[in-house]
This record gives sequence, C-alpha cells and structure tokens, in this order.
Amino acid sequence: MNKPAELKLETIPMWIHGRAAVPAAARMGEVFNPAAGQVVRRVPFASHEVVNEAVDAAGAAQAQWRNWPALRRARVMQRFLRLMEDAQKDLARLVSEEHGKTLPDALGSVQRGMEVVEFACGIPHLLKGEHSENVGTQVDTHTVRQPVGVCAGITPFNFPVMVPLWMFPVAIACGNAFILKPSEKDPSASIRMAELLQKAGLPDGVFNVVHGDKVAVDAILTHPGIDAVSFVGSTPVARHIYETAARHGKRVQALGGAKNHAVVLPDADLEFAAEALIGAAYGSAGERCMAVSAVVAVGAAADPLVALLKMKAAAIRIGPGDRDGIDMGPLITCQHRDKVASYIDAGVKEGAELVLDGRGCKVAGSEGGFFLGTTLFDRVTPEMSIHRDEIFGPVLVVLRVETLEEAIALVNRNPYANGTAIFTESGGAARRFENEITVGMVGVNVPIPVPVAYYSFGGWKNSLFGDLHVHGVEATKFYTRTKVVTTRWPHQDTPAPGFHMPTLG
Ligand code: NAD
Repeated sequence: MNKPAELKLETIPMWIHGRAAVPAAARMGEVFNPAAGQVVRRVPFASHEVVNEAVDAAGAAQAQWRNWPALRRARVMQRFLRLMEDAQKDLARLVSEEHGKTLPDALGSVQRGMEVVEFACGIPHLLKGEHSENVGTQVDTHTVRQPVGVCAGITPFNFPVMVPLWMFPVAIACGNAFILKPSEKDPSASIRMAELLQKAGLPDGVFNVVHGDKVAVDAILTHPGIDAVSFVGSTPVARHIYETAARHGKRVQALGGAKNHAVVLPDADLEFAAEALIGAAYGSAGERCMAVSAVVAVGAAADPLVALLKMKAAAIRIGPGDRDGIDMGPLITCQHRDKVASYIDAGVKEGAELVLDGRGCKVAGSEGGFFLGTTLFDRVTPEMSIHRDEIFGPVLVVLRVETLEEAIALVNRNPYANGTAIFTESGGAARRFENEITVGMVGVNVPIPVPVAYYSFGGWKNSLFGDLHVHGVEATKFYTRTKVVTTRWPHQDTPAPGFHMPTLG
C-alpha cells in the first residue's frame, strides 16, 4: 500500500463536549483515498475512557436540552439545514475522496440525508400527545412523548453522511443527546457535521463523535449511561449489537446487510428494466445496502435481458469518483476488493456462467486504486455462494425461473429481506408480488425503493434486528418514551379514589 513517508498526515479528531481533540496515546487507524490507494489521514480509536468521557458530556448536556421547548430545538435544526446546504458540495467531496463513490452520487446521498433534517424541523408537531376528557367522572388522561436520554449511533462506511443523518437529527430534535461512532474507514464528514451543529447553536455535549473499532462499540453497548443504540452495518455485527445492547437494558434498532432481488417478468419493458438494473447493481460499485445484487429472470425475459445487461455493464466508465464522466469508482479497501474478486473465482468454480469478468480491471493514471470491473453471472442457482452471500461489490447474478410463483418463493427463501423490486406491465402481478413478498421495502418498476425521509426505512428478517425502522414517524417513536398521565382535581366535588379498581361512574 502506498504511503509516502514524507507526507505529514492530518489526524481526524474526536468531538466531545463541543471540542475537537485527539486523545493522547490513542491507537490509530488509517483512512485511504481508495481511488489512489493511498493513506490520506489518520484516525484515533477511542478507548473505554474516551467513551466514558463522551457519555458524561452527553448526560450532562441532555439534562438541560430536554427542557428546551421543541420549537427552539427545531430552530437549531433549521439553522443546521441551512449550513448543510452551504456545505453540501464540500461534504460530498469528502465522501467521494474517502469512500470512492462519484461526486454526483455523493451529492445525492448528502441531499437524501438532509431531507431527514427537514423532517426533524417539524418536531413540535411530531411530539404532540393525545388527550381524553372524562375517562372517568372529572378524570382526564393525556400522553406526552419524552426523550429516552443519551442515544448512540454506530454507522457503516458506505454512507458516511446520509446514514448518521438517518439518526441524529430526529434523536436530537426529540430532546436526546447523541454519540456517533462513525465508520473508521471514512470518518471526516462526521466531524464537519459536528462543527455545523455547533454553529447552528446546538449546546455543547448534545452531539459527540467518538471514532474507533470494536473496543469503542463494545464500550457503548455496555455503558449504563447510554439508553438507546441505533446501528447500521453488516448482519453479523448487527446481531451482536442487538443482543449485547439489549442484554444491557438498552432500546436497540440494528439494521443489517442485504441481498436484494429484482424480479423481471416477460411482459416488462426490458430496455427500461435493464437500464434501471444497471444503475441499481453497479452504482456506488455495488456498495449500497439497497443495491440490486440478484436478478430473477422469469421465462422468456432471460435471454434478451442478459444480453442487454451485458452490453450496458460493459459500457460503464470506471475511474476516480471526482473525475468527470465516471460512472463507478473503486471499492473501499484493497482487502474488500480482493474479497469481492474471490467471490468471482468461487462463482466460476461453482459452475455459474461468467458473462462479464471484472477481474484485472486497470484504470490509467490510478494504477494503485482499489478498482474492480463490472461482473455479470448468468444461470446462477440459489445454493451458490455468489447468491447466498452479500458480496457488496459490482457483481450481479442472474437466476432463471419459469413462473412468478417460483420467483416469489425464491426471494422469500432468502434470509435477507431489505429491498426488492418487480418489473412488469401487469398490475395484477405487481399486486400479488407486493402482497406475498416477505421483504421490508418493495419497488414496482423502481429498482431501489428507498423511502423518502417522511416514511420509515428498514428491512425484515436478517436485515433488521429490532422493531422500529429509522427516520420518519418510527424514528420519533424510537427516540421517545410515552408517558400516560391521569388527572383528577379534588376541589371539583369529585368522589375520592376508592378501595377497589375504579370503573366508569
Ligand atoms: P460493518 O458491520 O463492518 O461496520 C459497521 C460499523 O460497525 C462500523 O462503525 C464498524 O466500526 C463497526 N464494527 C465493525 N465490526 C465490528 C465488531 N466486530 N464489533 C463491533 N463493531 C464493529 O459494516 P460496513 O462494512 O461498514 O458496511 C457495509 C455493511 O453495512 C453491508 O453489510 C451493508 O449491507 C450494510 N448496510 C446496511 C444498511 C441498511 O440500511 N440495512 C445501510 C447501509 C449499509
């Protein structure tokens, strides 16, 4: 790996109680520019002590913040939104540099994250409770939604701005304090957002960032001062987060990995479907939890669809994400690129038909970058590892079945259930698919059905551990507790509470 010795590398700080700091003697990680294959920054890894410090800061700040009127909290979000708009291009450049995705793709992901901030600006309305007069004689009941306390978010490398924004704007607007543990692979953007929140008037300590690996995460999961944990990442880690945090008495939502299928029926507009599938499979080099990684071609759709996919996948322009005219950037690390390439080897060994081979991809001027070309397999069977596992790279597999019924059964047997799509001209087929499919997010002629910010996002089965999805109304439920208050005023000539269970009267 290239690391010019003479280069003095910037160290990305932690952000605790409104101050940027690098803890003395911290273990350090390296942050790469994957298009160049070079280390560009260093990142300190938090110890238990650093996590304790962040929890102390968050707990003290939350005790005040929870009492701010919701409208004042919303105004901080409004100012944050305006600052994010000004910073959007810089944030996208940072995402593209450390992640590798193209600039327009990075810009779009920042925009989708900002839409959650727009949602959080409406928090006074979202926190309104219920009131019933005379639930008994001159007895009233009302509900209030109160913040849960100190919340933590642990996020993956593939959306370093958008996924944290799925979490903290709603958590903070609800009156919680928040500790973010971003991915150690592309952590710079999280500190930029912390600075913007401070500029927007957020009191110090309400938002904190600790960097790190399993040590920092496990300190969060077991800390008694943390009340709720939101996680987005791979399924094995999601399961660990869910089980450990729940064992330590925390509210948890843990979103995991995916294997998203698109079913294409013979009556579909195949040119339209192929064009949509190409972007969904290879956009962001397939490093999206909603990427389509498996196509289920039904009957006569298969031959013409595979021909179209091959032609379009071969035409994808690969290079550094900040270069004009590029469709697909590199993978996040050298190790991940090699792991994805090893799946291509495995697919060949298992007997799938390799239609397009991305191994050996070279990008002129970026020879050290972690690039892999677009890869397409046909005649894949459900038990092959290239279908069973989440590959998280630019590898699309095609499975062939004869009927819609078989297609639905195949998708439903998969343990992942994040997103799925159907391509068809038939309303009846689409309705049946929507009704019978056991997947959390469904697209009809929409390849990546990511819900907008005012709906909630989340999968089923191994793609989500917990009950509530992120953003939208489910997020306001996750980040608040309901209190039910029953009131009687004795001076109003009401009977005193009796000895037995009260009933109407
Ligand atoms: P990851 O699970 O490796 O890491 C996610 C976070 O967990 C990071 O902050 C990391 O530091 C931490 N972590 C990693 N290993 C850990 C361990 N053993 N113990 C405790 N913490 C650990 O995921 P990633 O590679 O950063 O991201 C890619 C994965 O995220 C893919 O599986 C993708 O499908 C998934 N993802 C899911 C969604 C969704 O909405 N369901 C969205 C984005 C990404």
